[in-house]
Amino acid sequence: MTADAAALDAADPLAPFADEFHHPLDAAGRRAVYLCGHSLGLQPRSAARYVEEELAAWRDLAVRGHHEGPRPWIQYHEGLSAPLAALAGAGAAEVVAMNSLTVNLHLMMVSFYRPTAQRPCVLIEKSAFPSDRYAICSQLAFHGFDPASHLIELAPRPGECCLRTEDLIDTIEREGSRLALVLLPGVQYLTGQALDLAAIAAAARAAGAVIGLDLAHAIGNTPLELHDWNVDFAVWCGYKYLNGGPGAIGGCFVHARHGAMPAAPRFAGWWGHDKGSRFMMGPDFEPIPGAQGWQLSNPPVLSAAPLYAALDIFRRADFRRLRAKSIALTAYLRAAIERLVPGGVEILTPRAADAHGCQLSLRVPRGGTRCFERLTAAGIVGDWREPDVLRLAPVPSYNRFADALRAAEALAAALGG
Ligand SMILES: *Cc1c(COP(=O)(O)O)cnc(C)c1O
Repeated sequence: MTADAAALDAADPLAPFADEFHHPLDAAGRRAVYLCGHSLGLQPRSAARYVEEELAAWRDLAVRGHHEGPRPWIQYHEGLSAPLAALAGAGAAEVVAMNSLTVNLHLMMVSFYRPTAQRPCVLIEKSAFPSDRYAICSQLAFHGFDPASHLIELAPRPGECCLRTEDLIDTIEREGSRLALVLLPGVQYLTGQALDLAAIAAAARAAGAVIGLDLAHAIGNTPLELHDWNVDFAVWCGYKYLNGGPGAIGGCFVHARHGAMPAAPRFAGWWGHDKGSRFMMGPDFEPIPGAQGWQLSNPPVLSAAPLYAALDIFRRADFRRLRAKSIALTAYLRAAIERLVPGGVEILTPRAADAHGCQLSLRVPRGGTRCFERLTAAGIVGDWREPDVLRLAPVPSYNRFADALRAAEALAAALGG
């Protein structure tokens, strides 16, 4: 298998991109096998240049940097729209880089979770990411609804760990008349399952509900066609597969049919105001058409700069090639684990290529934390989610087949005794 990993890397047209990132070192001073891009993507080598350019503009131009310099700050976020839209399957005006994920989720729910007495409920998946659940429960309570009775959480069938599309659609149809919002992940953070978003969005809209997506683990990972799927809104963060750096600027998608309606209810701020008259400093809010009309504040340039570097790598690598490699690399890691780990290990992530991104979630019910420590000592960087899930994500832009092999060998050794 070693030869076969080397041959696959040699034949991989994307292999050179691995050297465009900084890789952390392991305890022995070797390049670690970094399989944690689902949590924090690696730093592009070019990120520092983009940050330094803005520090230089601030140093040398000060307030003039709003209008001068390589990327004037007034429209700094706008340069991120086209590359984000390409990954989201959206028009450039349907996306905006702003805030962070949970903030954006609240802003989107202000606009698109409009519960009535007849239609108050929100449908999410059981074991949703805690921040999403906190945000949703607080929105329900804010509107005077008890989350205990108005939050519907769909669990996998007994004995299963992933959701079935047909169960999601049945639930949407059954609960349809009382559903205000269906809010689901593109890729579930714990299991790595990618949902059939086109089918789910169609079912939600047919039921008269709003469909919102959390793409924290999906953007930059799985193919998205938000506009064509008729998704109402979506939110994401910039620091997982987008490689934008810790706490990077997040983003939002608002479908064109909402963006075109100035009366759409929202929380307003001056950066969402019509660009032509923003600095007239008038008293009345007039939103920019499209997703930018949901901005509150001027963009955090220093936390957005690395995203320029990262999205330029996506552009050059080409997402279709990245996805093809992602499928091959994830399948390779799965096969290597299945072949090498004595007695096998349960992999929670679905096997079908269209039902996962690049993350594999492994259930390690006994000795899990010890196994995780051994992996870490062997230079394999994944993460551990209590009580028993090990997550490993081979990322196509910076991981190699040899990384997947080294991880599977280390896992076999870590579980072996
Ligand atoms: C990573 C992640 C978040 C993080 O939220 P922040 O507001 O960026 O801190 C939220 N939800 C999901 C599903 C995530 O995966």
